[in-house]
Amino acid sequence: LSRAFRDNQSHLKLVLLCTAVSGGGLWAYGESVAPEEAVSEKKKVVVLGTGWAATSFMKNLKNPKYEVQVVSPRNYFAFTPLLPSVTCGTVEARSIVEPVRNIFKKKKVDVQFSEAECFKIDAENRKVYCRSSVNNNLNGKEEFVVDYDYLIVAVGANVNTFNTPGVTENCHFLKEVEDAKKIRRTVIDCFERANLPDVSEDEKKRILHFAIVGGGPTGVEFAASLHDFVNEDLLRLYPGIKDLVKITLLEAGDHILGMFDKRITTFAEDKFRRDGIDVKTGSMVVKVSEKEISTKELKNGGEIKTIPYGMAVWSTGIGTRPFIKDFMAQIGQASRRALATDEWLRVEGCSNVYALGDCATINQRKVMEDIVAIFKKADKESSGTLTVKQFQEVMKDICERYPQVELYLKNKQMHNIADLLKEAKGDDIKESIELNIEELKTALSKVDSQMKFLPATAQVASQQGTYLAKCFNRMEECEKNPEGPLRFRGEGHHRFKPFRYKHLGQFAPLGGEQTAAQLPGDWVSIGHSSQWLWYSVYASKQVSWRTRALVVSDWTRRFIFGRDSSSI
Ligand code: FAD
Repeated sequence: LSRAFRDNQSHLKLVLLCTAVSGGGLWAYGESVAPEEAVSEKKKVVVLGTGWAATSFMKNLKNPKYEVQVVSPRNYFAFTPLLPSVTCGTVEARSIVEPVRNIFKKKKVDVQFSEAECFKIDAENRKVYCRSSVNNNLNGKEEFVVDYDYLIVAVGANVNTFNTPGVTENCHFLKEVEDAKKIRRTVIDCFERANLPDVSEDEKKRILHFAIVGGGPTGVEFAASLHDFVNEDLLRLYPGIKDLVKITLLEAGDHILGMFDKRITTFAEDKFRRDGIDVKTGSMVVKVSEKEISTKELKNGGEIKTIPYGMAVWSTGIGTRPFIKDFMAQIGQASRRALATDEWLRVEGCSNVYALGDCATINQRKVMEDIVAIFKKADKESSGTLTVKQFQEVMKDICERYPQVELYLKNKQMHNIADLLKEAKGDDIKESIELNIEELKTALSKVDSQMKFLPATAQVASQQGTYLAKCFNRMEECEKNPEGPLRFRGEGHHRFKPFRYKHLGQFAPLGGEQTAAQLPGDWVSIGHSSQWLWYSVYASKQVSWRTRALVVSDWTRRFIFGRDSSSI
């Protein structure tokens, strides 16, 4: 039984295991192919990364005709949505990670893992250059080259500092498990330092000032978790410094949680105000020194202010990894911010390379053409004029296919593409809209340069991984029958259905056992009931029964005993 749980096997597999152990035949465990035959036939797939996209690809890859080599500097998968909980000890770091070898060993596919980082991709010769990440003082960093037939790039993204001076040297980031552990130690160290004798009142105030830069979901969740940690656990242990603790959330935009529904934004801002979290909107950080943050107050004519701080966490978005930038330059994508793929996740400009997750973006030009095509179709059917109702239907179609279009327009405080058209045409749309495809194109091109059509979330990365694995599972069958199933014939498309993202909603935990949930269809729920929904969803989304059990037991431990405040 213990073995079955360790292996995360289903009941069926448990029965098979028992059968095998009792002499019923070990064959049931792995339908192995004769080795010589397998080697000669197998295509080599190289997967870069062990994050959301790569792990979901690996979990869903079932065709044993591949030989897979996974390369990543991390030999584990980390459940990133629970990283903010790790920063305050609500959940332990080890509870949210699963060794990738545990995941791979259950596969019938031949998988090798190397703990190394890729530093160069040579798409012309189908090679990736890697450097070992294992600390080995004797041999230094060993380098090796891996050949591939298919390359899957799923290396995620870097933190984006926007080249703000002093950020790298003085701020904490919240991207990796190590970052979360470091933040947890630093928070407790700040309390211990402020509690030392002979520290002046002003210095105590500075040390206990926690500044969070970026009012997106990660910054907001961290601010809320820190507030709970301080108020529910630390202040009981450090009663003398109760009135000196301050949490400030700095956001350059007009509101925090800008990508969420207005009701959630307003609720979050009000709640933070009531909790005593200082939300400074219109405040752009321009420099960070060892003890001070300089901000440009966008609402006050660009006035520069300095704020003393004890610990700063930078959470303002993501950027491209340097070796991906080099690769993009190599394949003619130097001007882009992420690897552009088509809707089948194939990297544009080179063959047999796929990109998914945070490091990739579906080519927006193609998406634009798609949107224009939808309007053209509507135009044909309506002979040039759409009623507002027809227009809304077209919009609904577009927003269903590309939820990010909707999010973008909301961000810009526009209700729909009509607002964009209005901007382009210079007049209002009342009862009907005259279709002019050229005007639409001009309007959309304004969006083109700014919009990443899919959000950088685990949800997207994981759906892309599953989609690509399914394509790979059917690759052989499709190669034999390149025309594909009847319904795609004559489309001139790739043999698989294009990737379609299905938005399942998003959460914003706001502390005090309250969460905001925005579910498809603009359904918004805020409060304690959504917190229970959050617990259920995140428990169910765990990658293994082991991590699920650990996470749930951490939550229970926290309810009963509170969070641990030791600085180990
Ligand atoms: P990652 O998961 O980052 O994985 C990248 C992988 O590539 C890693 O294994 C890394 O080690 C490896 N790698 C890096 N460099 C190299 C190299 N040179 N060679 C080989 N491998 C390399 N999304 C949600 O949907 N919901 C949430 O609630 C949510 N909360 C979040 C909270 C936090 C604190 C953070 C940081 C992110 C959160 N996200 C959330 C976003 C989500 O984590 C990312 O969108 C997701 O991880 C992207 O998946 P990925 O596979 O592209 O990249």
